[in-house]
Amino acid sequence: MAIDRFGRDIHYLRISLTDRCNLRCVYCMPEAMTFRPRAELMQDDELLALMPLFTELGFHKYRLTGGEPTVRANVVEVVRGIANTPGVRSLSMTTNGVLLKQLAAPLKEAGLERVNVSIDTLDPERFKRITRWGSLDEVWAGLEEAERVGLAPVKLNTVVVRGYNEDDVADIAALTLTQPWQVRFIEMMPFGEVAGFQQGQLVGFAEMQRRIEDRLGPLQVIDNGKLDGEARLYRLAGAQGELGFISSVTQPFCASCTRARLTADGKLRMCLLNEYEVDLLTPLRAGASTAELKQLITHAAWNKPWGHDLASDIIPLNRVMSEIGG
Ligand code: SAM
Ligand code: SF4
Repeated sequence: MAIDRFGRDIHYLRISLTDRCNLRCVYCMPEAMTFRPRAELMQDDELLALMPLFTELGFHKYRLTGGEPTVRANVVEVVRGIANTPGVRSLSMTTNGVLLKQLAAPLKEAGLERVNVSIDTLDPERFKRITRWGSLDEVWAGLEEAERVGLAPVKLNTVVVRGYNEDDVADIAALTLTQPWQVRFIEMMPFGEVAGFQQGQLVGFAEMQRRIEDRLGPLQVIDNGKLDGEARLYRLAGAQGELGFISSVTQPFCASCTRARLTADGKLRMCLLNEYEVDLLTPLRAGASTAELKQLITHAAWNKPWGHDLASDIIPLNRVMSEIGG
């Protein structure tokens, strides 16, 4: 079991399958992003060799992310290998949806259970502006295919960015009136070289809530505001789906955080917004034993930072979001 100094049971691993992406969202990475050389990234056999170490230490919940996880070569077989690792009880993916039309069915067959699809606006022009390269039609088709093949319940992730899509939150929230989806509104977090933009264009939870309520009526809190993972859940009157708010900046949820992240280059990062990382790939390549690698994982977990220091203006600079995995 991996426990940290504060008694948190760390059992949820988000694995970044690649740092590469087929979009360039303004809140995530610069347009001229440079990626790591492939030789620095975990190969399929290296990732699959680490998997049993995590499950034996009690990690049972897994999310695949990126960069864009679906652009990883051989993604279906990698998913199959992860899904077949004894001890994996939950396996989901966060994706931009661009390739889901082709990949939803094989991914489901390989053992993926659910997807979160990122959609920040329902307006095609704004969608292109915010993702720089994306097509809303393509992503929508991917979302429908995911639902058709049973990668459900589908969740939608919406990052809200001032000057880009703050006017769209009510339209996106309204999807839950007729669809059994969970739409999650995410406060933009600051990282590395994009931090200035991210802090300047932040839209907080209170404003998102006000914009939705002005158009669609009062939000009803679900479960007395108990967190579902990192999201606080609400419902619109008569809605089929739910609204979640992930307010990492204005209302941090660090006390209940049970997550660790494995970056595509094989570093175990214990807090999204803190630079502390433990390298697993270099020792793996140098022939470290299973016991030594497990010790590195428990050591990293024990030293998980309490939380982030955004309130004191301390921003992680060593990576942008796409290199950590969200
Ligand atoms: N490419 C996939 C996608 O976009 O869904 C997975 C990786 S992406 C880094 C994971 C999630 O992080 C997405 O929902 C994305 O919208 C969100 N995200 C990216 N940059 C962010 C930021 N600066 N603050 C908050 N969320 C962010
Ligand atoms: Fe790519 Fe996802 Fe980052 Fe957008 S948020 S640039 S889709 S990794």
